[in-house]
This record gives sequence, structure tokens and C-alpha cells, in this order.
Amino acid sequence: MTTTQQTDLLQTPIEFLKGVGEKRGVVLRKEFNIQTFNDLLYYFPYRHIDKSHVYHVSDIVNDGGYILLRGKIHDVRIVGQMRAMRLTAMFSDETGSIELVWFNGIRWVSDVLRSRTEFVIFGKPTLFNGKWNITHPELIDPNQQESSPISLRFQPMYNTSETAKKKSLDSKAIARLTANLLTQVKDVIPETMPREMVEELHLMTLRDALVNIHYPEDNQKLSQATLRLKFDELFFTQLKMLKLKLINTNRFEGFVFEKVGHYFNTFYKECLPFDLTNAQKRVLREIRGDVGSGHQMNRLLQGDVGSGKTIIAVFSMLLAIDNGYQACIMAPTEILATQHYEKISRQLEPLGLRVEFLSGSTKVSQRRRILADLRDGQVNILIGTHALIEDNVVFSKLGLVVIDEQHRFGVEQRAKLWRKSGPIPPHILVMTATPIPRTLAMTLYGDLDVSVIDELPAGRKPIVTQHYYEKDRLKVFGFMKQQIAEGRQVYVVYPLIQESEAMDLLDLQAGYEAIERSFPPPTYSIGVVHGRMKAEEKDFIMDHFKKNEIQILLSTTVIEVGIDVPNATVMVIENAERFGLSQLHQLRGRVGRGGNQSYCILMSKYELSNEGRKRLDAMVETNDGFEIANFDLQLRGPGDIQGTRQSGMLDFKIADLTKDEKLVAYTRNYAQQILEKDPDLSLPEHKRLAETLEKMMQRDTNWSVIS
Ligand code: ADP
Ligand code: MG
Repeated sequence: MTTTQQTDLLQTPIEFLKGVGEKRGVVLRKEFNIQTFNDLLYYFPYRHIDKSHVYHVSDIVNDGGYILLRGKIHDVRIVGQMRAMRLTAMFSDETGSIELVWFNGIRWVSDVLRSRTEFVIFGKPTLFNGKWNITHPELIDPNQQESSPISLRFQPMYNTSETAKKKSLDSKAIARLTANLLTQVKDVIPETMPREMVEELHLMTLRDALVNIHYPEDNQKLSQATLRLKFDELFFTQLKMLKLKLINTNRFEGFVFEKVGHYFNTFYKECLPFDLTNAQKRVLREIRGDVGSGHQMNRLLQGDVGSGKTIIAVFSMLLAIDNGYQACIMAPTEILATQHYEKISRQLEPLGLRVEFLSGSTKVSQRRRILADLRDGQVNILIGTHALIEDNVVFSKLGLVVIDEQHRFGVEQRAKLWRKSGPIPPHILVMTATPIPRTLAMTLYGDLDVSVIDELPAGRKPIVTQHYYEKDRLKVFGFMKQQIAEGRQVYVVYPLIQESEAMDLLDLQAGYEAIERSFPPPTYSIGVVHGRMKAEEKDFIMDHFKKNEIQILLSTTVIEVGIDVPNATVMVIENAERFGLSQLHQLRGRVGRGGNQSYCILMSKYELSNEGRKRLDAMVETNDGFEIANFDLQLRGPGDIQGTRQSGMLDFKIADLTKDEKLVAYTRNYAQQILEKDPDLSLPEHKRLAETLEKMMQRDTNWSVIS
């Protein structure tokens, strides 16, 4: 068969698989996003039950999981009445007996039990009143094994849903479907890698791996299959990212910012209110290297909260302007964009540059004026939200794009900005405060160069973090009063849980009332911001807070990223157990931004889940964002690291970035070596890699925009 025919078979709509049909097809599509044969092939079981080993009753141990037993069933009886009615029976082999119990399907089961006495049963023994029993054991036909074309020694367990179960698509039913599927397609599964590579790496073939991941012959085959499939996922992701990076740096010409001119120098000498840290200087040198190279810059700037990334953005933009270009900054929220705008336009005022702000709420007349002046080149710097991506935002000569808090933007959105500067793409600087562990950074940002600000500005005192319970509230209020008396300001944050915004607002409301009682006007002034407020209302409150006309700011998590009020020294986080670790760290980063000692107070209820307690302990223990991120990765897994999910980059089916760190590094090196030797993948031995990559790129249209 040719490759096209093979692919065609795997692309067959799922309805056409034996045992599916129209109705179940709809469920598979809706519930699991299984559209084609291929999708089902890649719907992997989360574990297997070993049916290859027959246990004895005397082998049964606590927590032993599901087991297979072979023996006789006797003493079948029905006990209890009405709803308490159940069927019990004794099961015995040569080593002992246990009890079996059925609550449902009593009529049917008793018929089966009456038909013969020899059985193979499968189930999970539990200890009840000091005796072992199995409820609802599976009654297996011992002849079943021989009649199947694929190994049934391990039973695959698939994730399913309540809806799917109602349409009789439980794990077992899905297992029957994958068995049908494999029988039909196992001989046409195409290989994604050259044979030499599979051999050199001692990997299983893709065909064997896909068969064994569902129906392994034995445990060893199962782990080989797992390795092969993980390798596939990670290797091709790395190959794609590295190829993209190569395309960026080699193929894409970049504007040359050759001179450090008037604006940059004046700002550096006359407007900068502090000395740059060594880390900031180093990063600036790296950026200058990039923008002077003739190739497009694609750089990720990582730095913990408060490390001073914004000023790097400002210098980079001045470099663009010095060389005759415009620049823009895109921030993920209106509040952040506004803050950047206010701060940067103030900082640059002495230079006489034109800085404008654009967001979804910019008035039509103003927008029209800004867009016209932008096109004419009269606007030097444009700051705003997603609104900057829109097609009607046209620059005269865009040289640099800064994206703040990258984790909220997908790779696709970055790509859109590329097209705003004509045939040569603008330089791109992506800034993120989410400290990303190495493995994750390699994968998520594999197409970018990375700079790290690993030093906080001098004179910063580490934030003191403490964990308190409700009973300590008076003490906490007392402490807040003390800080306010010293002229400082306080944030109080309430969690936002999307399922019930109304409830969250209730929390906020109750909190407000309690605080107002303890901090009465006119001695104290309290402000509230939350996600349901209009942008102008939020800005109004924020503005008062910045001017220290409000001492206590209550909010939901809208203040999470980027807000910069150096005089605020206390961050109280209510129901802290409900926040994720990286979010807690981001929130904590809102204080400790000036010279004063700052505090983060975590309030929680007394009973905490194990994980919740670990999170709060970690916060108390360390201020280091990278440590926090690593810990978070271990606790939650990468799919949950804030924002990465939207990026779609980490949708691994089988690889696990928390556990497969070595494999990530290995596949990356391997991909790197291949591309060093053959950047275009044009050598005959790489033909298959090129084809696989091509298919991947096609699947994701966003990539084709770039390449
Ligand atoms: P982040 O990296 O979290 O975005 P910012 O850029 O908002 O941090 O900087 C945090 C605060 O530190 C700002 O008030 C900024 O003006 C200040 N800052 C930045 N660099 C320095 C420095 N080298 N020395 C002192 N203060 C600095
Ligand atoms: Mg910032």
C-alpha cells in the first residue's frame, strides 16, 4: 500500500469503525475529540490490568489491586429484601475461600452461576468485617483468550465520562473498539522515523508501539511502547521548535539597529533614576547583539517578579527609535497596559517622544486619530492590549514588538505580529515573570533565545511570608494598622473561582464589611476592584491607590500580574489554599517593590488538603520563583502551569514533562544534531523526518504562517 492509502484509512471518520456507528460516533467526537481512526489509535489507556497472572486466594494482600482467580463457585444465595437485596456466593480454590457479592443484575448473574461451577473471576478484593470479599467480580470465559487476534493478557483501562457511559461507552466498550481498530489497521500504520534511526536508538517500531500501548504482550513490551511514543512526541516537538528557530535566525532577515543614539543615551544618562543591575546590563547587551546582527530577534526575557524587566523594554524601544523605527508593547490586561502606558510615557516625557495607548475600550474618535498617526509614523511607541494585533492597526515602520507576560499569549498571536512590518518581521522581545523550569522552557519556548535577569535591584529586602488561620485575624488586622500608621499600603486579595463569580463577589463583599468595621473611615480609606467592574472604574480606584489616597485595596485576582505600587508593603491573601502556587507567587510579587520591608500573609482555613498545605509551606519557605516553579511542576504537572494550556504546546498525550526531563534533553540534542548536519532535512536519509514534520506543520495552520 502507498503512504496515501495508509493515511486515508487512518483518516476514516470514526463512525465507520466496526462497533461505532452514528450515535456512538457523535459521543466519541464530542466527549473525547475522537474524529478519526487515527484519533482513536492515539487515545491511550491510562493503565492496564494484568490478566496474565492467576492468583491464589492465599496470595491476597491488602491494597493488591485487581486480580484474576481460578476456582469453583458454590453456596449461591440471595440475602436481604427489596433495596437491600443482594446475591452472595463463595469462591474457593485449593488455597482458601472468599465471598463474592452482587448488588445489581442479580437475576442475570444467578443464571450464569447456575450454568456451571468452574470460573475465572476478575476483581478487586476488599476487607469487610475482617473477611475478604469481591463485589461485582467479572466472570470470565476461560476460552476467550484463544479466540482473539491481539493479546488480551492485559486489559487496557480508558478514561471515559458519565455522558459516554450512559451511551454504553465505558472503558470496556472503548477497549473493544480499540481491539477492532488495531485488528483492522495494524498493518498499515506508517513509520514516522527513518528505519536507521529507529534501529540506532533501539526503539520499537511505531506500529508495534501503537499495538502494545493498547494491548501489550508483556510488561517489557509495554514500557518499550511507552518509550517509543514519548520519544515521538518529544522528538518531533523539539525538531519543530528548533527548525523554527533556525528559520527565524537564518532565513528571516532582521532590521539592523546599528547605532545607540540620542534617545537611548539621553535616557541612560539623564532620566534613569537608578543604576541598572548587572543582570539588566547583560540582558541589554544580548539584545543589542541580536538587533545588530541583521537577523530577526526572537528573545524571551525571563525574570522573577520585581526584577526590572520593564526598563529593558524601554531601552530596547529607544534603540528602535534611535534607528528610525516604531515600537510597541502588548500587555495581557487593560490594567497592565494602562500602567505601562502611564509609567513609560512619564519616563519618556523629557525626550519628547510620542507614546500612545490603544485598547478595546479606546473611544472611536481617539482610535481613529491614533491609527492615522501611527500609519504616518508620528507615533513612536504604541502601548496596549490584544487590540494591537487587529488588522486595522498599521504601523509606518514597526521595528520592535515587546510582549509582556507572555504566558497569556499563544505562539499564534506572536506570529500575527510578524506581519505588521512588511516583508521583514519586527524584532520580538517576550517578557515573562513566570519562572519556567528548564524542561518546560526548552519545550515551550524552544524557538526563542532566552535571557534571564537573575538578580533583583539592590536594596530589596526579601519578603517575609507568614501563614495564619482565621483565629489570628485580629493579630493580622493589628499588623495592617501598624504598617498603615507607618505610611504603607495593603492589598487584600480574594480568590476568583470561575464557576461561581457570584460567590466570589460574596466573599469579597463579606471581606469588605469585616475590614470596614475594623478600619473605619475617615481614618482609613478602602478601595475595591474586581473583574466585573468597567475598565474606567478599575482605573479610577487604582489611580487613587497609586497616589496613596487609598490605604487598603481589596480585590479579586485582577491585580495578579505586573501592578507596581512600591509603597504597598503588605499582601494579604484570603483563602490562600484555593490559589495555585505560581499565582500565589505572582501575588506576593506585588509587594517588596520599594525599599521597605514587605510582608505576604497567607490566610487559610484550618483543615487543609495535603497538597494545599504543601503549597503554603513552600511559599513560607522560599521567595525564589524558580524553586516555586519546580515545586509547582512536581505538584501539578505541566498542563496546569499557568497559561501553558492555552498555548496548546504542551498537549502531550503520553510524555510527561515533569517526569521525562531526561528524555526532553535527549530528544532535543538529537534533533539539534540532525539539524546541524542537515538544516533543511533534505538528505535522503531524513526524507521521512521531513514528511512527518510537514504533516505536523500542516495540522497546525498557525505554523504555516511562519514557515
Ligand atoms: P518586573 O520585572 O516584575 O516587570 P518592573 O519592571 O515592574 O518589574 O520593576 C519593578 C520595580 O523596580 C519598578 O518600580 C522599577 O522602576 C524598579 N527597578 C527596575 N530596575 C531597577 C534597578 N536597577 N534599581 C532599582 N529599581 C529598579
Ligand atoms: Mg512587569
